[in-house]
Amino acid sequence: MDRLDSLPHAYKLARRDALPGGTIVRLPNGATFGGDEIAICAGPCSVESREQIQATARAVAARGANVLRGGAFKPRTSPYAFQGLGLDALKMLREAADGYAMAVVTEVLDPREVELVCAHADMLQIGARSMQNFSLLREVGHSPKPVLLKRGISATIEEWLMAAEYLLVAGNRSIVMCERGVRSFDSATRNVLDIAAVPLLRSLTHLPIVIDPSHGTGIAKLVTPMSLAGIAAGADGLLVEVHPNPAAAASDGEQSLAFDQFDALMQQVEIIARAIGRRIPAATLAA
Ligand code: PEP
Ligand code: MN
Repeated sequence: MDRLDSLPHAYKLARRDALPGGTIVRLPNGATFGGDEIAICAGPCSVESREQIQATARAVAARGANVLRGGAFKPRTSPYAFQGLGLDALKMLREAADGYAMAVVTEVLDPREVELVCAHADMLQIGARSMQNFSLLREVGHSPKPVLLKRGISATIEEWLMAAEYLLVAGNRSIVMCERGVRSFDSATRNVLDIAAVPLLRSLTHLPIVIDPSHGTGIAKLVTPMSLAGIAAGADGLLVEVHPNPAAAASDGEQSLAFDQFDALMQQVEIIARAIGRRIPAATLAA
C-alpha cells in the first residue's frame, strides 16, 4: 500500500480513482497533455523582446514544440532582479505563438492579474513559489483556462496534490502537474529533480504530469538526459527553457538551451517517446 493511501480524502477530486481513465488536457492549438502525444513546452525563462520571442518560437516550433513558454510576470527572489515586461510580454508571446500554431503558457503571479493573463494565454502557470498561494489557487480555479501547477520548492507530493485539489474544487478540471525539482542540502545542482514523482503521481492521480528539467537541475548540460529520463518514466510532456543566446539571458541563462541544443534534445526525445509507444508533436513552420 502506498504511504499516501492513508489520507484518501485530502484530495478526493485529484485521486486516481476519481477518473480512472485519466485526464487529457487539450489546448486550442491541439496540444495535449495525457494522450499518446506528449506536449513540448519550450521558450525563454523571460520574454525580453519581440525579436527574442519570435526567434525562439520559430526555432522550437520547427523541432516540434507545440506550446510556447515565457515569463511576463517573473517571481524573482530579489526585488532588484528583472521582473518581466508584463502586458507587453503577454502580447509578444501571443503574437509569436500564433505565427507558429503554438499555444501560450505563462505564469500568473497575482490573483488580480488572472483575467489579464487569461486574455492572452492558453494555459496559466502557477509557479513553485506560488503553489500554496491559496487566494491565487482559488482565483485560477475559477478561470476557464487550463493550469500548469508547479511543485513548490519544498512541497511534499501530498501538499502538491492538495494544491491541485484547490483548483479542482473551484471548478477547474484541466490541471497539469509539473515536477520542477525540490530544494536539498546539496548545491551541486539548483534543485533535485524528482523523477520518481512521475510514476508515483501516475498511481495517485488522474492528472497529467510534466517534467521541467531546466529548473530541476539549473544546468543546461543536464537538461537533455533528465528530459529523456522523465519521458522514459512516463511524463506527459516537457517544459524546457530555450534562449537565442543563453549567456545573455535576463534570467536563468545557465539552464537555458541554445537552439542547436534544443534540436539535439528533440531528436533524442523522439526516440525515447517511440520506444514507449508515444510520439512527439509534428513540427510547425511559419503560418
Ligand atoms: C519559470 O518557469 O521560469 C519559473 C519561475 O519556474 P519555477 O516556478 O519552477 O521556479
Ligand atoms: Mn526560469
